[in-house]
Amino acid sequence: MSKTTDADIRAELGLRPVINVSGTMTSLGASIVVPEAVSAVTRILSEFVEMGDLHRRASRAIAELTGAEAGFVTASCSAAISLAVAAAITGDNLWAIEQLPDAGPLRNEVLIQTGHMVSYGAPVDQAIRLAGGKVVPVGQATSAHGYQLAGAITERTVAAVFVVSHHVVDYAQIPLKTFADICHARGVKVIVDAASEYDLRRFLADGADVVLYSGHKFLGGPTSGICAGEKSFIRNIYLQNRGIGRGMKVGKEGIAGVIAALEAWKTRDHDGIRARERAALELWMETLEGRPGITPKIVPDPTDNPLDRLEVRVDPETARITAWDLASALARGERPIIVRDHEAEHGLFFLDPCNLHPNEETVVAARLVEELEKAQRANEVIHTSIADRWLAQEAAILNWPD
Ligand SMILES: *Cc1c(COP(=O)(O)O)cnc(C)c1O
Repeated sequence: MSKTTDADIRAELGLRPVINVSGTMTSLGASIVVPEAVSAVTRILSEFVEMGDLHRRASRAIAELTGAEAGFVTASCSAAISLAVAAAITGDNLWAIEQLPDAGPLRNEVLIQTGHMVSYGAPVDQAIRLAGGKVVPVGQATSAHGYQLAGAITERTVAAVFVVSHHVVDYAQIPLKTFADICHARGVKVIVDAASEYDLRRFLADGADVVLYSGHKFLGGPTSGICAGEKSFIRNIYLQNRGIGRGMKVGKEGIAGVIAALEAWKTRDHDGIRARERAALELWMETLEGRPGITPKIVPDPTDNPLDRLEVRVDPETARITAWDLASALARGERPIIVRDHEAEHGLFFLDPCNLHPNEETVVAARLVEELEKAQRANEVIHTSIADRWLAQEAAILNWPD
């Protein structure tokens, strides 16, 4: 996973050289694409291919790793959600495929637990609506029961979406196996969004008709979405490229890159990677332990991916800075360090070691020390309002392209 010797393209483009300790974030360019995929992308870009055959080849690669009957590559996991819903609605009806998002008389209700209606940068329910699906929430934000799912199924119900993510409500939701049993008893297709999950087999084993992954997250492929599932369902997803899938298609380079990333996954040195991540966590742990107001702790991934992170708890009175002000300070400057701060209001953030280039962990450690020492010397506790921080972030959305 070493960098190429070419000069950093970011300087050429006037971009800040970000160090990513927040995880696989689309807003930062997702992940480090594995060398095998980089090579495949480069080698296919200048060639012509029969796209149907390239898709067939990808289908075999996906099937081999997931144990599914077939697979399909699209632009993103978000696109895959739309296309899977579309396929459930239209089946192989080519006319209906061209009519979407107008589902006409076809069944189009799509169930989703209210606690799963998250945003991964865009609302998951919108990905359903884009395909002509009518979203039917099941249960309340804080709980959903099997009887509520069964009760919500009507003669208009065509599919149900199940989201696996650290974003979803993580208690009192219907487990996938139960969810799938209830849906299948009534002929409802189960679509599992497992965008960021490492486990390529569990969700199909638990009853998914199709499982969807991001190619550009843990897998280290180019930007893409991967569908794996039952053959005719996958074929019907593929057929959506004649309809709404046209604008969500992936090019030859994306497909070749995904195939290469899947192949590389088979031989990836998972233990070696884990050991390197562990070394980074331990370095940060040693760096932070004993510093006033800072409590570091190694914690497992909330959805059981084989990945640990460093939770950094910040007591503003003693550390003399809040968790979010520390996160903001690290993100400023010549070498921005982006931490995982979506829970900063709880007084903590995480350092995620899975997207580091060699030696970046030492830069992170040094910057932490620098900002914490600066805070100790400050006359007042550095404490901006979190409400103001949110408003500023919201306002910043509209600043582009200036
Ligand atoms: C990242 C993510 C998505 C979107 O994936 P893209 O491939 O970036 O479109 C969807 N669902 C979940 C749970 C995610 O984490």
